[in-house]
Amino acid sequence: MVAVAHMCAAIALSAEIHGNIPGPNGMTDVIILTIDGKAYYQVEHHGVPFVSTSRLGMRTNNGDFSQLEFVGMETSEVSGSYRLNRSKTSEVDYEATKAVCTFRNPEGKTIQVEFRVGRHDVAFRYILPREGAGSVRIFEELTEFSFNDSPEHDFVKTYLTPQSDAMIGWMRTKPSYEEYYGVGKPVTAPSEYGHGYTFPCLFQLGGDGWVLVSETGVDGRFCGSRLGEYYETSGNSEGCVGATYRVEYPMPEENNGNGTSEPAIALPGATPWRIITLGETLKPIVETTVAWDVVEPLYETANDYKFGKGTWSWIVWQDGSIRMEDQKKYVDLASAMGFNYTLVDNWWDRTIGHDAIPELVDYARERNVELFLWYSSSGWWNDIEQSPVHIMSNPILRKKEMKWLRDNGIKGIKVDFFGGDKQETMALYEAILSDADDHGLMVIFHGCTLPRGWEKMYPNYVGSEAVRASENLVFSQYECDQEAQAACLHPFIRNTVGCMEFGGCFLNERLEKSNTRGTIRRTTDVFQLATCVLFQNPIQNFAITPNNLDDAPAVCLDFLREVPTTWDETRYIDGIPGEFVVLARRNGDRWYVAAANATDTPVEFKVKDVLDALGLGKADVRLIDGGNDPSSSDVGAGKKLKVCRNDGAVLIIG
Ligand code: CA
Repeated sequence: MVAVAHMCAAIALSAEIHGNIPGPNGMTDVIILTIDGKAYYQVEHHGVPFVSTSRLGMRTNNGDFSQLEFVGMETSEVSGSYRLNRSKTSEVDYEATKAVCTFRNPEGKTIQVEFRVGRHDVAFRYILPREGAGSVRIFEELTEFSFNDSPEHDFVKTYLTPQSDAMIGWMRTKPSYEEYYGVGKPVTAPSEYGHGYTFPCLFQLGGDGWVLVSETGVDGRFCGSRLGEYYETSGNSEGCVGATYRVEYPMPEENNGNGTSEPAIALPGATPWRIITLGETLKPIVETTVAWDVVEPLYETANDYKFGKGTWSWIVWQDGSIRMEDQKKYVDLASAMGFNYTLVDNWWDRTIGHDAIPELVDYARERNVELFLWYSSSGWWNDIEQSPVHIMSNPILRKKEMKWLRDNGIKGIKVDFFGGDKQETMALYEAILSDADDHGLMVIFHGCTLPRGWEKMYPNYVGSEAVRASENLVFSQYECDQEAQAACLHPFIRNTVGCMEFGGCFLNERLEKSNTRGTIRRTTDVFQLATCVLFQNPIQNFAITPNNLDDAPAVCLDFLREVPTTWDETRYIDGIPGEFVVLARRNGDRWYVAAANATDTPVEFKVKDVLDALGLGKADVRLIDGGNDPSSSDVGAGKKLKVCRNDGAVLIIG
């Protein structure tokens, strides 16, 4: 399709415009307006509406803020720098225009909307003052994200993953952000379950550009939100329609129907931030730090957490491997690879036992390896039997267990099977993190929600699954057939707003212990290596198996030994979501550039193209390519790369 730019720029005639919030350099503006006594915002980039006229407001048990009168707006410049030690970027310089817009409802009650407008990012949240009542329950938020679409709905394309029904899937553990993505669908394409979409949500606006919508700063004092089903509003002018999505709170059925789907806050108080990243290309979306720009660390830690790489037997060897003998083999594998960690997955309390864990810890430490242990979060919100159960959900047992973990030299926990975004569940995530830090433990979440600024908020937080992750490649051939497409989506969507504990990099041809049965890997060895750069998590638990030490190409093992898991810089080079991706990440002086292709059209580029994109002149460049017969070679700037379907390439520069 030839991308056409949209001419739908006008604002409705009945609108009263109250203010314009220009970001630094005036690239992005937020316009504040009211129409028929309702409040709206619009986001423009170089004068083009990227988010068209979209509603603001909420209904609460302490005032209905659906009808609003504009009172005033105060703007100021905010800037600063901060460090992220476990993400895609390490040093962030942040600059934005802050505007606090005050509105009043017909009863005379006040609500404020605080905006932060950057060059390519907009963040906003509601602030409720204390005017009488000391707390408030929010029935619903009226926040919309609307896009100017053509009446034929062939202008806006969506890249969305649906919210699932509650209490379905394995042992009734959903929703857990493990659904498929629709790729390049029109807004009218129905969502799979009828409950809208989980964050982040990517939209392509014809030839105008791209918009990523998500949220951040969700802690234990609010629920996680999502976008509801698409509906149509009147467009900004004749010849277009408004393709509109509204923020929705958790479904009542989540957590087996227990807990609230209407978050409550103490007053004065604020909601989490709704965040928008936009650009003419995908570059600002891949490189954005807005999820961390507007949040602060919630506690200081006395501990020195070490990120890195690990092995985990469960992914290929499954439940039967959770026994002392096999765990020692995976410790040996971690040791041989120079990895820091081995993750002991579910059932360890039954099959190894608490009493034998010190033996495994000693065995690991003699080999410079430390352990993570698995727990179920539940609880009464699913049917999980995989043990240990009912510990992480109980503050008394949790603290006792964490003391035992610390006393026995365990470095971290993986907590699985949450299932829901209610305020109670977000409080549980925070309680686990906070208690774990008291005991020097890092925390990985699985079967869980999207992290929302947590890499900066919680010093011992080291990963969330919240994606259709590597386990599905083991369970289903369809998943293996679709692996490349999914891998070419995550760098643009899921992984750009938060770390992603995918648990990948398979070097077996068959994803089963014997390597002779089970699902067949369709992607090449080099593709698997590329995902180690494309997917980011501060601790990467890779899916390699002990036999790979003998049967995998040495170039693959060498690469896994050296590849970092945290980055100083991340740069978009090229790509189309679901089709192909070329991404660069820097650690220290060294760039790792990964390419992957999910289409029949080869991706071709020269080393020089990458050097130019990174602003590098002459540099030492190593190329890993060759598909399933991989090799590493020094190459010059003139070297041409050709990446075919299900294949990848990695450049190591410097
Ligand atoms: Ca999972």
